[in-house]
Amino acid sequence: MTYPTIHKDPADLRVTPNLPAAGWPGFSWAVARSWLDGLPDGAGLNIAHEAVDRHAAGPRAGHVALRWLGRHGERLDLTYADLARRTSAFAHALERLGTAPGDSVFALSGRVPALYVAAIGTLKARRVFCPLFSAFGPEPVRQRMAIGEATVLVTTRTAYERKVAALRDGLPRLRHVLLTDVPADAAPPEGTLSFAALVAGEAQEYAIAPTDPETPALLHFTSGTTGTPKGAVHVHEAVVMHHASARFALDLHPEDVYWCTADPGWVTGTSYGIVAPLTHGVTSIVDEADFDAERWYATLREERVSVWYTAPTAIRRLMRLGGPAQGALAAPALRFVASVGEPLNPEAVVWGQDALGLPVHDNWWQTETGGIMIANTAAADVRPGSMGRPLPGVEAAVLRRGPDGVLLADGRAEVLGPGVGGELALRPGWPSMFRGYLHAEERYRRCFAGGWYLTGDLASRDEDGYFWFLGRADDVIKSSGHLIGPFEVESTLMEHPAVAEAGVIGKPDPVACEIVKAFVVARPDAAGDGGLTRELLGFGRARLGAAVAPREIEIVTELPHTRSGKIMRRLLRARELGLPVGDLSTLEGGEIP
Ligand code: ATP
Ligand code: MG
Repeated sequence: MTYPTIHKDPADLRVTPNLPAAGWPGFSWAVARSWLDGLPDGAGLNIAHEAVDRHAAGPRAGHVALRWLGRHGERLDLTYADLARRTSAFAHALERLGTAPGDSVFALSGRVPALYVAAIGTLKARRVFCPLFSAFGPEPVRQRMAIGEATVLVTTRTAYERKVAALRDGLPRLRHVLLTDVPADAAPPEGTLSFAALVAGEAQEYAIAPTDPETPALLHFTSGTTGTPKGAVHVHEAVVMHHASARFALDLHPEDVYWCTADPGWVTGTSYGIVAPLTHGVTSIVDEADFDAERWYATLREERVSVWYTAPTAIRRLMRLGGPAQGALAAPALRFVASVGEPLNPEAVVWGQDALGLPVHDNWWQTETGGIMIANTAAADVRPGSMGRPLPGVEAAVLRRGPDGVLLADGRAEVLGPGVGGELALRPGWPSMFRGYLHAEERYRRCFAGGWYLTGDLASRDEDGYFWFLGRADDVIKSSGHLIGPFEVESTLMEHPAVAEAGVIGKPDPVACEIVKAFVVARPDAAGDGGLTRELLGFGRARLGAAVAPREIEIVTELPHTRSGKIMRRLLRARELGLPVGDLSTLEGGEIP
């Protein structure tokens, strides 16, 4: 089914959008750079200065920067001035500990204020910050700290004792472990320090040293959806993109109350959960708790969230749990909702309209791109199922692919016209582009061909420049001469009222090469028996045609997800075919459901 375009009525937008529907002719990265201050006296560019210190030195000093909502109802507001003081103290502490610029500071912590202080303080001191997802088990933690040569770890007592203490011998570069939940006057476990005690005596002003924009700033591991996670290195110049893309794709205005639900253990939770909102001087909500539909609706309502950035998996869970009436009352101040991480099913875009009074705006990017590249924006019409159009300054194209990757003729790639599927590629040169995969030079090199960065995703572009996600190159199914993207089949199945979520794979077949197999999670009220399977097979055939429709459907209670919320199709496939399951370090729950 094709969903109609959602037209934007300027009267509904409430504020003047930062990006006109027609785009921004004449935009350049130099323009975006001019929206930032730079360090005083031309001393370069530092993320911490743009995010915190410049606001703390001006009229926004007393504005709430972070509003922390603790798991059990605790609250803490930190103003820009507070954040400047605390992060300065942490930067001094890092120096006093004897760390050097370029050393890496890891965090293994839930969303507590100290995590945010550590992130910005680390950047002030020109060390490299690497947040890990707090629910990682010991081995994923060890692996990543070894690759990233962690010098300092900021964590909690329990996480340290359960996950790190026994591994310390294998991490010879790890010199300091700082515990955020040990009070300044309590004795920390042997070999660790209390974070609070460490920063207590430090000066609360810190002059950031000159910072070349190419200085490494952040290390982020990818989600591990397609294989072993890669460590992508980002530099201080990335802040130009964080700021500009939040202006364009999230439509941030200074008076917004903004909530990004992603954990800083993933790039979204750092680029758009820490840096970008602070560069705009907004109030950013940090919720320590995990997904809980009632709590989320209450947060949207009571905190008067105006801009909300979340993920398809969360939206699908809300859709599964609550009818529109519950949501419609939820958010009086909400004026813009965006989603990232996975394809957003058209069903979910439209659900937003019913439940929240606003469509959900899909946008696309990757750990490697460091910032949003393609987006449905506030003023532009939304085409449900499309990831939107490239942001100003971003050049995206669809390149012709052969079975093994992009085809080059005389070193050049063929850019495909509207309606033809191929590899989604970006012209290198945007500020937040990753500068390498740590210790994986060859893997990095393979991401480029014919003057393009190859994303590993397949997409097509329509006549009006909207991009449509087809699937990851690794996930595409070849069946009887057709190339089938799992997303299309999954979205269609989700249109059936009994389907809550679907994951689709190709299963080898002697005749068709592969057949489409779907794993379906039924809604709680749907009967999960053979009748439903038969009905869905028929529904798929009627909607998609026999060539594309699933030939096998299995009803399951859960699909395997990465901890960042993506369906792990490679695991569905491995399990189906009895193949080795590969790297499961990012699997949610840690066990194969
Ligand atoms: P790995 O690279 O380790 O396999 P990953 O690609 O899932 O993991 P991320 O960088 O977190 O790691 O995710 C980026 C990918 O997520 C994109 O390449 C794309 O496949 C998918 N993605 C993100 N946003 C969207 C979107 N709006 N629509 C479709 N796919 C999306
Ligand atoms: Mg990837």
